[in-house]
Amino acid sequence: MNAAGESILNRTANEAPALPTNGVARPSTTATDRIARLPAGSINIDLDTLRDYAPGYGFTFDRAADPVYESALPRFLELLEKLDVPATLFTIGRDAINAAHGDILRDAFRAGHEPGNHTMTHPRKLSKMSMDAMRREIVDGHEAVASVAGREPVGFRSPCYDVSGRVLEILDELHYRYDSSVHPTILGPVVDAVVFLKSRGRSREWRPGTYFHALAPLKAYRPSRTSPWRSGNDGELLELPLSAVPWTRMPFYGTWTQATGKKVFDKSLKKIRRNGGLLNFHFHAIELLDLNDPGVDQRFRVHPGMTQPLEERRATLEAMIRDFKAAYELVTLAELANRSSINMSHNHGGVPQHGRVEPANSRFKNGRIARSTHDKAAHTTESNHDNENHRNGTSGDIS
Ligand SMILES: [Zn+2]
Repeated sequence: MNAAGESILNRTANEAPALPTNGVARPSTTATDRIARLPAGSINIDLDTLRDYAPGYGFTFDRAADPVYESALPRFLELLEKLDVPATLFTIGRDAINAAHGDILRDAFRAGHEPGNHTMTHPRKLSKMSMDAMRREIVDGHEAVASVAGREPVGFRSPCYDVSGRVLEILDELHYRYDSSVHPTILGPVVDAVVFLKSRGRSREWRPGTYFHALAPLKAYRPSRTSPWRSGNDGELLELPLSAVPWTRMPFYGTWTQATGKKVFDKSLKKIRRNGGLLNFHFHAIELLDLNDPGVDQRFRVHPGMTQPLEERRATLEAMIRDFKAAYELVTLAELANRSSINMSHNHGGVPQHGRVEPANSRFKNGRIARSTHDKAAHTTESNHDNENHRNGTSGDIS
């Protein structure tokens, strides 16, 4: 919440010069016109804790209040409030129900940030688990995050981008609106190799299943239940792939852009904007953690960016979000899924990223997805529409 006690979500829905949720255009103003011309995009933060990172470097870490929640997340939230930007927070269920983290999460969700499900315990290889264990991870994570957010998550991100058709089936059972786990970059194997070397060979984090993500569409699509990195029109669930640079498929996310610098960031953003690629930019909360913060184990200095001065990182991050704000109307991923879905059914599978912003879908009320018969009927119609498009060769794969 800001000083006036108003939430970002309320302001976005009721006062910001965006199109309102009921689809009735507001009186035109210069700001309205400017925002209405901007494509919608989203930034989101994975709330992985030091406890989750440690095994990747070959050691363990445990502390009642994780430094990521104690020190880094408050810095992120402060920055988002300053810039008046709503984000999606992919939260691990285990951390959501940790009493030491409850207050900051409740405040964040009350301020309008979207609760996203990032499993219950952040298993490194979710897709390799048995169906029962996998379901427990996703359902328990859902319930834990809902219990602290006061509303149900409608979106999922798999730990380490490890998504499979079975994961999507469980999201179908939960009536999720979207998954956002596909990372369409060619650098997956390189990232795994870097972690392996930094852990001095102790890491077992190779994720060959995700290497196919490099072939995924760069826009919202309805994923196949056998190969989530391909469009399959197999249901209502949307895949909102993470951003990557068109053609080169180089990555475009917080840790990467901190390492490669502003020039590469500017060029990448320009390319994505010019090609109409989805802006789904993800940070990790650890990016605003300092080695001198309370409880931080010095062995984390091997983590990318950790030895860079905090103030430098914070300034870069602020500059990046300001650039996003100038080029996109920033909304939560739930809202982005909502608009993509409407555009798909209106445009025979296309998800226009330029030119205009569609009104928000009234299906979302107070951050929840309505489950009325009417809404189910609407979903079915949409789905049939897409299947027909598929048969006619104008499928939802619009990359
Ligand atoms: Zn994670």
